[in-house]
This record gives sequence, structure tokens and C-alpha cells, in this order.
Amino acid sequence: MQDHTCIYCNQEKNTDEFSLEHIFPDSLGGAFANNIFKTRLVCQRCNSLSGLYVDSSFVKNFFSTTLPAFSDYLGYYDFEKKPIIPFSYMGFVEYIKHPNYKYCEKWLWCGGSMIYHFHNNSTESFQTIAGGDPRKRKGKNAGEVYLVGLTDNPFWIELLLNSFIKQFKKSKKISVNYILPNQSSESLSNEQQNIKKELFTIHQSKDIQKHTMPINIDFNVRFQAKLSLGLGYSLFGKQFSTSNEANFYRDIFWNKDHKKLIELQPKMMSFFSKGKNDLEKFMKFLNFKGCHGLFFIPVSNTLVFYGNLYGENQYPILTVITNELDKYEHELIKKYPYGWGYILVPQRELFIGEIEIPNILAFNTGDKSFLPELIELESLYQDQSELPPFNLEKKD
Ligand SMILES: [Zn+2]
Repeated sequence: MQDHTCIYCNQEKNTDEFSLEHIFPDSLGGAFANNIFKTRLVCQRCNSLSGLYVDSSFVKNFFSTTLPAFSDYLGYYDFEKKPIIPFSYMGFVEYIKHPNYKYCEKWLWCGGSMIYHFHNNSTESFQTIAGGDPRKRKGKNAGEVYLVGLTDNPFWIELLLNSFIKQFKKSKKISVNYILPNQSSESLSNEQQNIKKELFTIHQSKDIQKHTMPINIDFNVRFQAKLSLGLGYSLFGKQFSTSNEANFYRDIFWNKDHKKLIELQPKMMSFFSKGKNDLEKFMKFLNFKGCHGLFFIPVSNTLVFYGNLYGENQYPILTVITNELDKYEHELIKKYPYGWGYILVPQRELFIGEIEIPNILAFNTGDKSFLPELIELESLYQDQSELPPFNLEKKD
């Protein structure tokens, strides 16, 4: 009989209450990963709660703390396809007020170009994760977006406008300093013209503008617990999802008490007292510039998931899947006693693997012969210094 118990809430549900859950967030490219990173055994309620409270907090924090990694990220962009380059969430701003909207959020793009998003959204998603995904804003919740472009190079202007239009699909779009197609100043209301003027003045001045970033402080540990639960189920099935360990991760995932979570987290990482040194020694060799590295590593009786977002150890995620590995069987564990991994390049919609960890270590320490697929991948990487400059006048 088919199992109808949701992995996250452990409740029995009807078949039509389940939906596709990306254990590794969709917004970081999870849709391109294999079935280990997806499941249909999560109910819609858990799926949307986890999206709102766990994934979004994690992803927004990731993007806003890793701007330095942006150039690596662009290395794999296929510029001929005119892709979207996502804006990074920067939080709320208070220095500019729109008479019709209560909130203003700022988003940053390459080279300092930015977006101001005015809206009145006060739904659950707004309160918990500061705005939710702007692409999903509809109707009167879509608000108004103002673009301040800091590039005069047509190459970047085209990409910027394309990203602006696609990421804020439903919102009224106003450019502060570019001429948008089908938009003359006559089409703007007085309020809109005033905001436009005000933003223009702000960006002419050299003052530093403050923004505040409300974050869900426990998102990291919750995100770890979610990964452990989801990946554990993907590998070991019901035997895992009914285990004490799975219940422990559920406790973390659903716990609202910050103090309690602080107590629970070290327990989750307790294997570290044994395996930490060994693991840390080779973790630095599991980096792939501009790509996500996703690895499953057995350390004595523990199975660890190690994720390295966009390379260079900018944002490592480390979580324990099980401390009782000998209880479980999986063909991949048998096949790869030293662990295995995948390279995910969402910019190219590529997912490479599985690859055994000794071969990855060999590759990253100089012997590339075992992994021709990674040689091919590296050949797609474009050094950012070869890209056109943001500002034409600065070119010498
Ligand atoms: Zn559920």
C-alpha cells in the first residue's frame, strides 16, 4: 500500500493533499537536481510553510550575505541567451515614503543597480520573511517597483531590464533613470513622478542609505533539519522517516522556541567531536567556483550532507542525516564508501553526478583525468574580467 504520511509533519493525509517539495530549494536550482533532492511525500501545508519560513529565509540571507560570490556566479551565465540575473534582497528602507504604500523593500543587482519595491502586503509571508517572492505578487499586492540603473553599457542595460521585467512581472514598473519601452512621463501619476524624482536625488548624493533586514533567526537550524529529514527519507525511505532521529529533526523543524533550538542544534551536530578534523581537512577540496557542490559523506557511523553554495566556501551547509548509518542500506552507500556528490549549475540548468568523492578530491588537487565531464564544465566558465564593463566611460 502506498505511504500517505507526510515526512515533515508525520500526519496521514489524502493523496490530493501532497505536492512536489524541493528538498534543496527551487530558487537555488533544486528543480534541476535528481530525485534525491525532491519528494512527493510532503503535504501542501508543510510544503508552503517550509517555503515561507525555512527556504525563503535561508535563500534571502544567502543572497544578501554572498554578494562577493556574484562574479563567480556570473561565470556560468550563458549571456547569449539573455538570462535573468536575480536581484539580491537587501531588506526594508525607511528613508523614502510612498503616499500609497506602507512598505518599501530594496533589491540589489550587479554593479550597484537597485530596485525599490513599494507595496502594502501584510500577509503571513510578508511578516515572516519580509516580502516573499516578488514574482508571485499579484493584483493589488504587486505594488510598484522603481529601478535605479547604475550602468551605461547597453549589454548590461539589456540584462538589467530583462531581469527587472521578469522578476517583478505583475508590479507597475517605473524606471528612475532609463527610458522604458511604452513608458512616457505622461503615463505616471503625480505620486509616481514625485517618488521618481526623490529616488533620483537620493542616488545623486553620496550619502549611505540604511536598510534593515528582518530575518528569521533560527532559519539555519530549521533548514538543516529540513534537509536531514528530506534527504534521509529520499535515501532510506520509511525506515528513516519513522526513526527517532527523524522525530528529532521534526522537533527542530517545528519548534518555535528560540532557546530550545539553541539547545537542540549542537546535539544535531554531535558527530563533530569525532569526525570533524577528518572532514574539515578535505572539505576545502570540495569547492567548485560558481556552482553548488552537494555531497553525501559517511564519517564512521554518521552520514553527513555537505552543501557548498556557489563554491569557495562562501556559504557551506553541513548537516547530519543519520548517526546510525549501520541501520540502513542504500546502493549508493555500498557503491561509494567514501561518499559521493553532485555539481549543480542552475545558471546552465546542469546537474552532474553522481561522482565519487575520491575522484573529486583528485580533480581538485590536480589529477583531472577521471572526470572529463568536469573538465567540460570548467570550459564553460567565463572569467568575469572578460565581460563588458558596467560603465563605458570608466573603460581606459
Ligand atoms: Zn505535512
